[in-house]
Amino acid sequence: MNAEARDRRGIYDSLRPEIEDIHLVDAHNHLPSEEAWLESEPDWTAFLGYLVTDLANAGLPRDELMMGLTADERWRLDYGHDPGPDTRSPEEKWQIIKPYWPYVRHMGSADVTRTALKITFGHDDLCDEAIADIQDRLPELMKPGAYRKHLKEECKIDCVLSVTQALEECPPTDVMAPQLFTDTYVAVEKRRDIFRLEQSTGRNIYSLKTFLEALDALLEDSVERGMVGMKWHIWAYLRDMDFDVANEYEAARALDKILQMPARGGAGASTAVGFNEMRPFQNLVQNHLVQRSIDLDLPVQIHAATLGASYGGQLKGDPKALIQLFLRYPEARFDILHAAYPWTRELGALTHIFPNVYINMSWLDILSPVSYKAFLRDWLTGIPLNKIFAYGADQFFMLLTPACAKRVRDFVAEVLADLVADGEMAEEDALFAADCILRKNAWEYWKLAERWEGRYG
Ligand SMILES: [Zn+2]
Repeated sequence: MNAEARDRRGIYDSLRPEIEDIHLVDAHNHLPSEEAWLESEPDWTAFLGYLVTDLANAGLPRDELMMGLTADERWRLDYGHDPGPDTRSPEEKWQIIKPYWPYVRHMGSADVTRTALKITFGHDDLCDEAIADIQDRLPELMKPGAYRKHLKEECKIDCVLSVTQALEECPPTDVMAPQLFTDTYVAVEKRRDIFRLEQSTGRNIYSLKTFLEALDALLEDSVERGMVGMKWHIWAYLRDMDFDVANEYEAARALDKILQMPARGGAGASTAVGFNEMRPFQNLVQNHLVQRSIDLDLPVQIHAATLGASYGGQLKGDPKALIQLFLRYPEARFDILHAAYPWTRELGALTHIFPNVYINMSWLDILSPVSYKAFLRDWLTGIPLNKIFAYGADQFFMLLTPACAKRVRDFVAEVLADLVADGEMAEEDALFAADCILRKNAWEYWKLAERWEGRYG
């Protein structure tokens, strides 16, 4: 070991325990409520997380992969058919995966799985013995209070910003602060999509005006009930994201196409008018949401990256498509998810010139650990420290979240140790940077002191 390498290692060893003490804010996650989690009866395959799609990519047939999903999830994912209840034993599922495991076990997604198994059960790897042991011990962990214990007490995650379709599905708690997934109310094509908003708000919708009034009522009510932000997701894969200024009449006509479908509950009522037909409406409502985010002082979190949990899709998440919105709404605050991977360098440039654009690095640590570290190093010396959120677990199963936190703490310590060793940063500046990107920035951006801590934290 040469002197420089020893120096780097020494700096890492000094920084890492300090970084362990930072209380995290998880800037993007998909955890269900603890109640829903307790009812979910997972087996060991819940620990696969994003590995499911990586296994398919490695050749595991998709029909074999629908393990661990409930019938409802299979429907939600539009798998195309319902294969019925999964009657295979946990051991049988492992035998199906086992031949593909050597090809993926070094990937970021598998590192999350292995790290979670190590933290939770003390196992270093997936193997026949580990599967049996995990199966035996998993039910003991599914206890009320588990979220608080595993996230807050053991992992020092103070607050998890979790995306939800409706506040009643995942209300705020002393661990969780919800962000509303607004696509549910904008990517509408059918009567039932409109009816959902009517039901949530107790209002009748028969025009663009009454639709927007209902949407505003939903947003205001959600803020009242603890919503801390909005999240947009699916747009990049279905259409362009420029959300041009819309003609109100055209938007109203598009909505009226849905209202002209056969009446609710009757034959043909479930017919979709077509996603592209709704384009003027989508443009108008997305702009309306940004305007309301300014009025309500809420951030807008936008997925602009490769499509997660996907078996193929358009590669159109380039955040440059959002420049129109960035320019039109300087008072809005946008955090761009997953560091816009693979348009990561472009997002760095956008964040550098737009005061209203922030980098959310969630999931990049899994997608590409090397890119995570390289770009974090670049941005820590090229972009103001308060524009970066370095941690968001982006998981659907709670017990994977501590593993994501550990890996991100490791990565941040490595990057900062390199910067200190190269003389780019003093050690105390490195610790200030770590606190900003892991806690302080998210705490302030989502206004958690006002919106969450006093009420639920
Ligand atoms: Zn996500």
